[in-house]
Amino acid sequence: MKKTASLAKTASPVAAPTTTVACPQCGAVVVWTSVSRWKPFCSERCKLLDLGAWANESYRIAGAEITDVSEIEDALAGASDTQRAH
Ligand SMILES: [Zn+2]
Repeated sequence: MKKTASLAKTASPVAAPTTTVACPQCGAVVVWTSVSRWKPFCSERCKLLDLGAWANESYRIAGAEITDVSEIEDALAGASDTQRAH
């Protein structure tokens, strides 16, 4: 197994141009590289927060359509009846 110390010496990360973006969630500066796991977010936390905001939004919309629990039960009963007949 060969050591690659000489290779690491020549490849300077400082020489590469860096692109930075603002995290959509918190506005923090994110360095845009191929190894940035959570881009365009600065971290997993911000990515999850953003996804959570979308999930809450769709939950609210879905909840507004069916206001009564019995409606859901009726829909489920109807669906299983259809499956049985089919
Ligand atoms: Zn962030």
